[in-house]
Amino acid sequence: MEQAITKAYSRCQPPEQFKNLGMDLSAMDRARQSFSGGRLPKIEFPGGAVPLSSSLYIKRSNIEQLAYQELDQPGSLIRIQAPQGMGKRSLLLRLMAYAKVQDYQTVRVNFQTAEQSVYTSLDKFLRWFCANVARQLKQAACLDQYWDPEIGAKLSCTLYFEEYLLEAIESEIVLALSHVEQIFEHPKIAQEFLPMLRFWHEQGKQAEAFQKLRLIVLHATDVYVPLQVHQSPFNVGLPLQLSPFSLKDIQTLAHRHGLDWDQNLARPLMEMVSGHPYLVRLAMYHISQQNMTLAKVLEEAPTQGGIYNQHLRGLLKTLQQQPALAQAFKKVVTSIDSVELETILAHKLNRLGLVLLRGNRCIISCELYRLYFAQQKLGPVDEWRIRLEQLEQENIHLRALVNLDGLTQIANRRSFDDYLDSQWKNLTEIKAPLGLLLLDVDHFKQYNDTYGHPAGDQCLQQVAQVLQRCAKRSSDLVARYGGEEFAVVLPLTNAQTSARLAEEIRIQLGLLEIAHETSSLEAGIVTVSIGVISVVPGSEGSPEKLIQAADKALYRAKKEGRDRIYTHSSSG
Ligand code: GH3
Ligand code: MG
Ligand code: MG
Repeated sequence: MEQAITKAYSRCQPPEQFKNLGMDLSAMDRARQSFSGGRLPKIEFPGGAVPLSSSLYIKRSNIEQLAYQELDQPGSLIRIQAPQGMGKRSLLLRLMAYAKVQDYQTVRVNFQTAEQSVYTSLDKFLRWFCANVARQLKQAACLDQYWDPEIGAKLSCTLYFEEYLLEAIESEIVLALSHVEQIFEHPKIAQEFLPMLRFWHEQGKQAEAFQKLRLIVLHATDVYVPLQVHQSPFNVGLPLQLSPFSLKDIQTLAHRHGLDWDQNLARPLMEMVSGHPYLVRLAMYHISQQNMTLAKVLEEAPTQGGIYNQHLRGLLKTLQQQPALAQAFKKVVTSIDSVELETILAHKLNRLGLVLLRGNRCIISCELYRLYFAQQKLGPVDEWRIRLEQLEQENIHLRALVNLDGLTQIANRRSFDDYLDSQWKNLTEIKAPLGLLLLDVDHFKQYNDTYGHPAGDQCLQQVAQVLQRCAKRSSDLVARYGGEEFAVVLPLTNAQTSARLAEEIRIQLGLLEIAHETSSLEAGIVTVSIGVISVVPGSEGSPEKLIQAADKALYRAKKEGRDRIYTHSSSG
């Protein structure tokens, strides 16, 4: 393995960006040597809570101790706030394990798991909440017995806990509420539910039943729902903020991955991801388990080929679905100083881990995000772009269906028909253009007659290769239409761009100078004629009509002398 790592390492050129991060070559050399300690430990892929048995958990000793002590206090409330990927779930796992050792009952309610319909009314929401907790405590729900419309859902819920659940269970109950920020999205529910939690906590000071209850509230962002100071559960109890890893933490974690990193090696990673626990773990996973070098990880970090691609694309998609959020984030990305944003947008970006809050101002949370998002279109939702991604996926899928032409190894007529049909439908929906090229090799019968059928086959293969080289977008589909005819499907391409591509194909084939002495054309080489069309699909047209029109254009190209393109115009 060591050899493989060294080999992978030596392939890596010192990248520009990496240099900017202050990592010099000698440090890179040390990175290589650091693997010399023998076999690297087998490490699980990062994601979700770090298992209790894992050596990769970086203890937050002071926080954990405080939390354990608080859990032992009657009626206590612990609040854990941090953006995603910071280790909330790992900490919760440990708190729950501690509670079990104390023989406390543990219940976990994740507000992300509730269907949207649960949030349609306070009544529905509280009934869902109660039923969920009862079930985990292995108690019959008996909701109707305690639900009294006269006193309202909130009081019914409180009595349900006080007189039923907390009564039925003898031991203390640790109730962990995760993804509470989900409730912030429903202000009407938040404004009732959150003060109710506060009330329960206050009750814990006197009422015996509520003393048994220990609440843990986990949320990715600060509360941005207006609540009266004396009603908010977010200004009482023990607040725990999860901070990013320090340089020392990163070194410790590297060690546990079998990597002997000193500060000089830990620092560039620290600077790239600002100690974000999940991002740090992902880097170390790839370095220790996938033979990657730190240099390569950092060099490729903000690119599509990098290890963070999936994570970054997920964030990008979230932003693209919320144009106002994307616009706000764009301001942060392009500004050197902190930026003042509207409160809710600032908190939403903070929840995603994209920004840090400094009072009412925001700054970008790490260099990785700045580098990546500076290259992305964060303007109004780019529907074409999203659609293009879908097309790429569909195209990959189609290619996998082995609908290839045996001779040329490009799509066959059937895939062409399927693809054209599906694109017709897709682009009809978003009213975007669909381009089509129909090509025919000039005087190809003569070619066969002169050079023989096998040579003719070879020539067709060359033509197919030229087409594939020229049609670069992964949503473009090159197909053998039949005999010596080819087609290129060009989603999201207007007539002008389609014509430009057709001309490029014609020129590129000409540059191959495949001899065709018996061609009536002057140059004496193999040439093609191309019919070009692009339309915005709609109900008045059809894929068949599109092909007919392209065929007509091809006929015109032949008629006007071959070795040329002809673009169909709607007028003629
Ligand atoms: P034009 O420029 O008007 O299109 O003339 P053409 O000679 O190319 O047109 P025609 O339709 O008369 O001839 C097409 C020729 O293509 C005839 C056929 O033998 C040849 N052909 C079709 N499929 C294959 C194939 O798979 N391999 C080879 N070698 N030739 C093929
Ligand atoms: Mg033909
Ligand atoms: Mg022909």
